Amino acid sequence: MKITAAVLREVGKPYSIEELELDEPHAGEALVKWLYTGYCHSDLSNLKGRITMALPLVAGHECAGVVERVGDGVTRVKPGDHVVGTWMIPCGQCPECRRGLGNVCTGNFTHFVSGTMLDGTSRLRDAKGKTVLHGNFVSGFSSHTVVPEGGLVPIKKDVPLDWACLMSCCIPTGWSSVTKLAGVMPGDKVAVWGLGGVGQNILRAAKMRQANPLIAVDLEESRRSIAKELGATHFICNSKEDPVPLIKELTGGGLDFAFEASGTPGAIEQAVWTLGMAGKIMAIGIMAQDEVAKVPLTYMVLQQKSIMTGLYGGVAVQDDIPKLCDLSMTGDMKIDKIIEGTFRIDQLNDIAERMEKRQLSGRWVCAWD
Ligand SMILES: [Zn+2]
Ligand SMILES: [Zn+2]
Repeated sequence: MKITAAVLREVGKPYSIEELELDEPHAGEALVKWLYTGYCHSDLSNLKGRITMALPLVAGHECAGVVERVGDGVTRVKPGDHVVGTWMIPCGQCPECRRGLGNVCTGNFTHFVSGTMLDGTSRLRDAKGKTVLHGNFVSGFSSHTVVPEGGLVPIKKDVPLDWACLMSCCIPTGWSSVTKLAGVMPGDKVAVWGLGGVGQNILRAAKMRQANPLIAVDLEESRRSIAKELGATHFICNSKEDPVPLIKELTGGGLDFAFEASGTPGAIEQAVWTLGMAGKIMAIGIMAQDEVAKVPLTYMVLQQKSIMTGLYGGVAVQDDIPKLCDLSMTGDMKIDKIIEGTFRIDQLNDIAERMEKRQLSGRWVCAWD
């Protein structure tokens, strides 16, 4: 069938909005119509070549929609199901999956970076008949696509699909980093660097965990209002003020947790000096491949400070995403505040450039219908 998609053909160049030919799903795969797709900072990192992937690919990995058809042997989803796409598909067999670490599955990782289905092939071709790859398994910026069934999480139909697309990436990464990886407890002193989609969800999850104080740090003064809306007790604009002495004063000596969600080495280097004794940096943002942060390990060891990292918040996608969808219906996630606006697919390059210039204050979501 003919579909519309945003194709990343060359890093540093705009997305090419094209009509592609999509094959029918093979065994173990489903054909999905995406209804909403969020634009994530990792998409921008791919576009700018800061994180490289095999090209050309259909961009996007934060998507929710409806199953239209299924291939042979599919049991997890059926036509009509509302689903969230996931950019990591645990194989269930590799050493990591067997240890409960499906978020860092090595069994399917080759297919993730090479942009194929689990049999090593693609279902997408361009107008010249050349293969186009599936970005992050789910090809989020396409009107329809084929996904291995393990990359689809069925959800209840009362969850709005524009909210649900954020369940692919920024919500599970943010919430699970706070609850599962860091284990923030009431009264812990917490700061968050970088109020993009993941940072905003870290902030909200830490608020619901009763972190206090809860300090938001961002280069853009314009993010002060969303920080306060999501529950920050303080906001520091670190392009104007040095957050280190301010955080030391606000916390009476230092943080228990410094969440780094901006993906910049400078934020890690700042955060190190704001930790209290035995404090932890949770590095969640993904830096460009060639960047390095300098950290004073002598001081870190003598004060028992540590740096932890987490990919996808350590989620078990099939268990955690439905729970987070249910939780979203309480209103506590404030997803309506996190979504700043919607756009059409032909406006994707404009959204990407506005994100690069840090002009976006919240998540922008592509509406397909
Ligand atoms: Zn695996
Ligand atoms: Zn993402």
